Amino acid sequence: MSKFWSPVVRELTPYVPGEQPRERLIKLNTNENPYPPAPGVETVLRDFPADHLRLYPDPESRALREALARELGVTMQEVFVGNGSDEVLALAFQAFFCQERPLAMPAITYSFYPVYCKLYGVERRTHVLTDQWQVDLDAFGPDCGGVVFANPNAPTGHGHGREAIAGLLERVTESVVLVDEAYVDFGGESAVPLVARYPNLLVTGTFSKSRSLAGLRLGYAVGSRELIEGLERVKNSFNSYPIDSLASAAGVAALEDREHFDACREKVITTRERTRRRLADLGFEVLPSQTNFVLTRHPELDAAQLFVGLRERGILVRHFNTEALRDFLRITIGTEDEMDSLIETLETLCR
Ligand code: PMP
Repeated sequence: MSKFWSPVVRELTPYVPGEQPRERLIKLNTNENPYPPAPGVETVLRDFPADHLRLYPDPESRALREALARELGVTMQEVFVGNGSDEVLALAFQAFFCQERPLAMPAITYSFYPVYCKLYGVERRTHVLTDQWQVDLDAFGPDCGGVVFANPNAPTGHGHGREAIAGLLERVTESVVLVDEAYVDFGGESAVPLVARYPNLLVTGTFSKSRSLAGLRLGYAVGSRELIEGLERVKNSFNSYPIDSLASAAGVAALEDREHFDACREKVITTRERTRRRLADLGFEVLPSQTNFVLTRHPELDAAQLFVGLRERGILVRHFNTEALRDFLRITIGTEDEMDSLIETLETLCR
């Protein structure tokens, strides 16, 4: 605590990201992609003329937004880009959720949302998940200052289909519904096609997971022109150039390679289903997942102790020390070899 901090900063409880270890570990803790980005990304990084860095990048990031618009079947005016989807989310909270009424969200979802609430002084109302660990869409009513959830949800892995999201949008029409699709490419159904029908729908996405570019920091939002303009107003009151020229060029190259994108996500999905079966064989309960991670618990073994046991043997997973999630481990899907090591190590720890 410092006397120089403003009252808001004193009250913050910042988000704690998963560890980025210095030593070489099998890293299954922050939902990164185990496969490299599209080869075209490497070409861009190698051939990028350093002299271009003298100039500021395009403040409107038109090349990247155009490429995203093509990929997502929308217009460029319906696309916003930011320095990772965390930044896009932060701007969206400020643009849309600083309202009189509280923001509605699931009790278990991406743990950054409550942090943004504190930062911007947004009151929140949480709704418990169903007994199947699913986001209870029926709990969200029209009397809120907005709705936010991840779909598929994190860290539970379940995703609702497009029609279910449309049902929610029929009810909540007077505030923004933000659907965070960070993991949608691993088996979820995107709500992007609903943007044309619902002016209050904002869908966010990221290059960090399915495009293997977590280190580049690229995220985006898709929504009606009025929502995108709202985001631009906040962005242009904060940082005119969130996307650097190199990241923009690499992001475009990643979007151009559909074959690589499809091959990587299919590998992750196949490995995920195999991992689920093998964990179940070891006696774990594994929640169904449409993401690149699984949430799992063992009826007898303590999750915190498993976490430590795995760490000591060179495998890093995620354990959330909250009341609802204490019994679980969240395990990112790595390569087949990495998951073999995980299963072998768990076999030892389960003995
Ligand atoms: N949304 C969810 C649900 C996430 O799990 C993450 C990754 N921690 C993000 C958004 C942010 O991803 P990024 O900032 O790398 O785009």
